[in-house]
Amino acid sequence: MRKKPVIRTCCGCRKKGEKAGFIRVVLTPDERIVADLSQKISGRGIYFCRNRSCIEKALKSRAVRRSFRGIDLPEEIADLIMKECL
Ligand SMILES: [Zn+2]
Repeated sequence: MRKKPVIRTCCGCRKKGEKAGFIRVVLTPDERIVADLSQKISGRGIYFCRNRSCIEKALKSRAVRRSFRGIDLPEEIADLIMKECL
């Protein structure tokens, strides 16, 4: 049987899609925020389309802070994932 695709929602535009199409950012159990480009780090993950405007939107709407229990996306992580955008 074919594996069911894992569906995730973009933190910026709320669009749903397959997990593999998104950039994942993780809040690790020791409360560090890391860009999980391999999608393998454990922790609480949020997802972004490969689209700069989605990342900017999520920062403005404080969606990241809501998902990450009051922690904002650090600038260096935002920069890093912006480089992964198409
Ligand atoms: Zn998006």
